[in-house]
Amino acid sequence: MFLKRLELNGFKSFAGKTVLDFPKGVTAIVGPNGSGKSNVIDAIRWLLGERDAKSLRGGKIEDLIFAGTDGKAKLGVAAAALIFDNSSKFFPVDFNEVEIKRQIARDGESSYFINKSEVRLKDIIELLSKSRLGTKGVIVVGQGNSDIFIKANPVERREMVEEILGLREFRIKKEEAERKLRNTFINTDKVKALIEEVLPHLRFLKKQTAKWERRSEVEEQLEILEKNFFGSKRAEIEKNFFGLDPKESELSKKEGLTRRELREKEEELKKVEDLEPESRALLVKIRARREEVLRKKNVAEKELGGLEVRLLMAEKEEEKGQVDSGKAVSFLEEVFKKAKEVVESGFNVDLAVALVRKIAEGGEKIFSFSEKREAGAVEEIRAKQKKNYEEVDIFDREIKEINAKEAGLERNLEKFTDNFKKAFTEVEKVKEEVNRILAEKNKVVLEKERWNFKLQELKAQVEQAGRSWNTFSLKDAEFLREEELIETEKKIFKLRGELFAMGEVDQALVKEAKETEDRHNFLVTQIADLLKASEDLKEMIRNLAEKIHEEFNEALVLINKEFDKFFKMMFKGGHAKLLLRKEEVVAEGEEGEERKENEEAEKVIIKEARDIEAGLEINLSLPKKKVTNLEVLSGGERSLVSLAALFGLISVSPPPFLVLDEVDAPLDEKNALRFAEMIKDFSEKLQFIVVTHNRATMEAADVLYGVTLGEDGASKVVSLKLS
Ligand code: ATP
Repeated sequence: MFLKRLELNGFKSFAGKTVLDFPKGVTAIVGPNGSGKSNVIDAIRWLLGERDAKSLRGGKIEDLIFAGTDGKAKLGVAAAALIFDNSSKFFPVDFNEVEIKRQIARDGESSYFINKSEVRLKDIIELLSKSRLGTKGVIVVGQGNSDIFIKANPVERREMVEEILGLREFRIKKEEAERKLRNTFINTDKVKALIEEVLPHLRFLKKQTAKWERRSEVEEQLEILEKNFFGSKRAEIEKNFFGLDPKESELSKKEGLTRRELREKEEELKKVEDLEPESRALLVKIRARREEVLRKKNVAEKELGGLEVRLLMAEKEEEKGQVDSGKAVSFLEEVFKKAKEVVESGFNVDLAVALVRKIAEGGEKIFSFSEKREAGAVEEIRAKQKKNYEEVDIFDREIKEINAKEAGLERNLEKFTDNFKKAFTEVEKVKEEVNRILAEKNKVVLEKERWNFKLQELKAQVEQAGRSWNTFSLKDAEFLREEELIETEKKIFKLRGELFAMGEVDQALVKEAKETEDRHNFLVTQIADLLKASEDLKEMIRNLAEKIHEEFNEALVLINKEFDKFFKMMFKGGHAKLLLRKEEVVAEGEEGEERKENEEAEKVIIKEARDIEAGLEINLSLPKKKVTNLEVLSGGERSLVSLAALFGLISVSPPPFLVLDEVDAPLDEKNALRFAEMIKDFSEKLQFIVVTHNRATMEAADVLYGVTLGEDGASKVVSLKLS
């Protein structure tokens, strides 16, 4: 048992809640014309996903809602539900019972439910198609449609067969994939158009910004070079600058020490100097005394010289008498003169006396007169002479003393001079040393100043280069040797020149270029994604088409065999066959416009679908008749052919149930009887819900429902027979 129950509420003529239980086998629905039998079938069709109001025998979808009668007011909502036994898991869901419910309100709002959960219509159609149930095929054959198979065009016939074979699911999937493929192609075209639109602008921007492309690279390079260059220079200068520090402090220390030494030496010199005035003054004093003594001695000696001469003269006078006084006076004057010269020339008194004596001896001739002198003159002179000699002696002794003292003092002074000289030399030496140190220190200071100047110069250079001084330590710079520095400087100049030539970057333009490029890349990626997606879809379409093609063609052979069998049975001979109409590969109609829009996609789809778009022709020959055109068949014949095809189909692929609305109506009694037998036979495999006025069919039924119109004009169902 598959179809369990149909519940109606407000659906068409069924105003009240109506329940029809379907047992296994054949359920026949009977009743007078217009009682609402076909409305039951409409409800089933509606529940199987029919959307077309016309197929449901209504002008618009709200015609499905009970419109009211003289005795009963119209309703606002129509609802119907089909309940399936799913213990065999015919539907691929976990439930043992599946209820499909549809509801429509007068405002047009539709609701769909699977097992009380609200779903979309699409979900219902998908579930049913997976289970080979739908409205395209022959599951529900409506009233007046007993010749459905003849009436249908080749493509519709194919759809019916596909639905019964359960290929509808794949067809839906394929159509979905085709729709997606079309969209993919449309999107690809759109994206291509966008790329075409973006590309010239991007090229323009790229051209504009190309000159700056190398800028950041050059800037980076320049930064590294400058870092190394300035860093090395700074390091070198600082090394030299600070390298002088120890020397400077050493010199300062040395200066301090030497200055201290100088002070000491100067003190020593002062001490020596302090000793000097005493001896010197003394020396001056005794020398002055000696001068005085010498002068006195000289006077005494002169006197002595005179006395000697007087003595000589006095003695001569005593011996020879008086001499020529004129001659004697000039002679004496001569002798005095000589004696004076002798004394003045430094000869001592003795020498002067001896000299005067000699001269006086020569003068004897002059003094040849003998003059008698008074006695006692010689003694007097001699006494005086003695006194003078004593005086001279005293003077000599003093002079001697003075000389001795002078020698002593001079010796002392010499020692002082030596000491002074020594101390003085020492002071001078240390002074020189201080000067030497100062000169050296000055040199160091100057040298440092020179390096400092260089450092300031470098700082200015760094600033000029627009760099921060602090980034140019040697910490992360490479230390360059002299020749490398020259090389690096050259490179720096070159790169700076290059940057200058590039000009300032227009950030707005660069930003725009970047954004445009991003957009372009995004679009290119999208194209790639779309192409990949279309490849996948094509593959999917191919696979589905192949599956449909294979399964359909395989089944068609079997169907034809059965069709022919039933045909022969019904027409007592002849033969019938379904043929693929390959020339009608290209489906016409509503998709034409779209196809033109997207020829590329269509080419692919059509190529892949070629084999499965072929419709089905009915090829038959009736016994004893030359019928080639289906149009010439009688109404009953048309129904018989259709039924033969229907039975052929269901014997190859039996659906879970069939709903047939008065398909037996055009049949004569014999054929109606045969029909009744056939459904009885098939009811072993599938359920039948048939609307009939035919007694044979009614007799074949396991359950009989009578539909009548009640007093209020609404349809009612009564169970007439239970099997
Ligand atoms: P026949 O044996 O002649 O085929 P039937 O039993 O199949 O008759 P239906 O076609 O099922 O009859 O029922 C038609 C009846 O249902 C009509 O009388 C029609 O007025 C009625 N009907 C259809 N739609 C509605 C509706 N929305 N509200 C009320 N009644 C409706």
